[in-house]
Amino acid sequence: MSFVAAIMDTVLEESEKKGLKSIRCIKISVGAMTGALPEYLEKYFKEASKGTILQNSALEIKTVPVEAECCDCGKVYAPERSNGYRCPECGSGQGRVIRGRDIIVDTIICD
Ligand SMILES: [Zn+2]
Repeated sequence: MSFVAAIMDTVLEESEKKGLKSIRCIKISVGAMTGALPEYLEKYFKEASKGTILQNSALEIKTVPVEAECCDCGKVYAPERSNGYRCPECGSGQGRVIRGRDIIVDTIICD
């Protein structure tokens, strides 16, 4: 589960920089486009964090919906399969995904 590995790398690197010995809670934002399900992330995190300073950390997951920005009119919209992911304002198919395609570590809370 590469998402979990990436999250752990980020957090461990950050903890090392700040000299943290244990982490109470990790808050992450998970983009809907990643297809990563919160329950799987939690499960893999529990397994992967064993033996690290993250083994007792809670993972708090916030799901971020997908948002696109229309390259033609600049409208920010939620792409929908029913209209072919087109811009609801001008009908353009030239949308740029601006949110919801990655996983971000928002906050690290230590003891
Ligand atoms: Zn548009």
